[in-house]
Amino acid sequence: MDELDDAARGWVGLPKFDRDYLGQRVKGTLIRARRRYLVETFGEQMLGAVAQAAPPDAARILTDVPLAFEWGPMQRMIGLDIAIIRVAFSGDAARMQHLGAEIAGYDLPLTYRALMKAGSPSFVARRMGSVYQRYFREGNVRAVASDKGATMRFGGASQPLFMCRYGMAGWMQRAIRLSGGRNCQIEHTECRHDGHAECIWRCDWE
Ligand SMILES: [Zn+2]
Repeated sequence: MDELDDAARGWVGLPKFDRDYLGQRVKGTLIRARRRYLVETFGEQMLGAVAQAAPPDAARILTDVPLAFEWGPMQRMIGLDIAIIRVAFSGDAARMQHLGAEIAGYDLPLTYRALMKAGSPSFVARRMGSVYQRYFREGNVRAVASDKGATMRFGGASQPLFMCRYGMAGWMQRAIRLSGGRNCQIEHTECRHDGHAECIWRCDWE
């Protein structure tokens, strides 16, 4: 991990997980979605502004965009996300929740058309583990769901704080909504960055 300033450290979370990110891989589709989100939300010129604030390897993936199914270093995406939070989100890491939600909105209706069509919210919640593994090679999500709610647990790897608290929460919430769950509330009830063994989300809907 490059030397982080205080703001970035606050977004990324506990330094003891920094080493964990080094070996992890993420799917190119997550990079492509970030690029698309920046262009659609802020306009083409935001790409240049984010690239200027990002480390060179992270800046490069905005122009030399990886293929959707390609695995690349998570470290590079974290560098990009820090620049996105700093420049596009004016330092407000909570806005990663909207980015996470939009990624679910881009991918689920296409890639998981059958799942979304056949599925109730609980059906979709129970499959979040297998969907997670299409985006992240390391770590796992286990879900227990009933008709009106689900509990998701993440372990086996680390995610930066802005990702578990906001990005993943936004993704999960939008997935439940897209599968028909109304007034879906999500809360990140336990977090590895608060000293818990796993990250846990509680999601309830009507
Ligand atoms: Zn967490």
